[in-house]
Amino acid sequence: MTALPALSGQNWPVLEPGWVWLCGAGPGDPGLLTLHALNALQQADVVIYDALVQETILDWAPQAERIYAGKRGGKPSAKQRDISLRLVDLARAGKRVLRLKGGDPFVFGRGGEEAQTLVQHGVPIRIIPGISAGIGGLAYAGIPVTHRDVNQSVTFVTGHDQSGNTPGTLDWASISKGSQVIVIYMGMKHIAQIAGHLMDAGRPASEPVAVVTTATTDQQRVLETTLAEAPDAITAAGLEPPAIICVGRASLMRQVLDWQSQAKGEPPRDLDPLGRGRPAESA
Ligand code: SAH
Repeated sequence: MTALPALSGQNWPVLEPGWVWLCGAGPGDPGLLTLHALNALQQADVVIYDALVQETILDWAPQAERIYAGKRGGKPSAKQRDISLRLVDLARAGKRVLRLKGGDPFVFGRGGEEAQTLVQHGVPIRIIPGISAGIGGLAYAGIPVTHRDVNQSVTFVTGHDQSGNTPGTLDWASISKGSQVIVIYMGMKHIAQIAGHLMDAGRPASEPVAVVTTATTDQQRVLETTLAEAPDAITAAGLEPPAIICVGRASLMRQVLDWQSQAKGEPPRDLDPLGRGRPAESA
C-alpha cells in the first residue's frame, strides 16, 4: 500500500470550534471517502458516527473522541432527536464536530433532519456529500445505475418508513411504469411485499434483480435473481442487511462488468448481456 498524499495545494476548509460538519463516509471501502471527508477527519475533536461507518475510517482521526450513534448489541438505536441535540451540545461546548454518516448524508440518512436541527439552534454547518450505496455499492457489483440501453431514469426508494412498514405513501404503480431501474434501500425486511407490489403493477416476474450486501467491503456478496424469486433466494442465500436491491435489466450488466471477479482471473460471463448484438460503442 502506498501512503495517502498530504492534503496540500488547496485552500482546504478549516473545521472551526463550534461547527458541525455533516459528512458522508461512502458505502464502506475507506477509499471511497472524499478528500473533504479526510480533511474533516484530520481536524475533528469529536467524531459521532453511525453503524454503517467502517471503524477503520476513524483511524484517520486518531486525535478525535469517538461517539457511536448507531445500533449495537440488539439495543435500540439512539433516538434521532437525541443525536441531533447531542450535536448541538457538542458544538456549543466549542468542539470541532464531525458527524459521519454512511453513504451520502442526504440520501435516506436523516442528514437533512440533523442539519435542520443544527441550523434551528444556530449552529453553523458544512455538508460534505458522500458516495451513496445505491450508486457506489452497485458499481462495486458491476452494475451501472444508468445505461443507455436500459434506462433514462432511476428511482431510489426506501423499503420502510419511520414506523418500519413498507412506505404506504409510495405509488408503486407509478414507480413501476415510470422507472426501468428501481434501487431499493432498506428493502430486505419487506422484499416479499415490495416484489408483490411491483409485479401487481405489471413488472414481469422474470425481471432481473441483484441484491448487494455489505457492498464495497471485503464481505460484499451479490445475489442475482428475479423479482418473483428474490424473497426465497435471499433467505436461501442467508443474506443479511445492509443491502441494496436493484430491480431492472441494469442488473444483467454484471455479467460483463463484474470487475472484481475479473480481477481474480474469471472471464466475463457474457460480453453482450443486453443482447444489443453490436459493438457497445457503435452509435
Ligand atoms: N445514507 C446512506 C443510506 C442510509 S440508509 C447512503 O447514501 O448510502 C441505510 C441503508 O443503506 C441500508 O439499509 C442499505 O439499504 C443501504 N446501504 C448502506 N451501506 C450499504 C452497503 N455497504 N451495502 C449495501 N447496502 C448499503
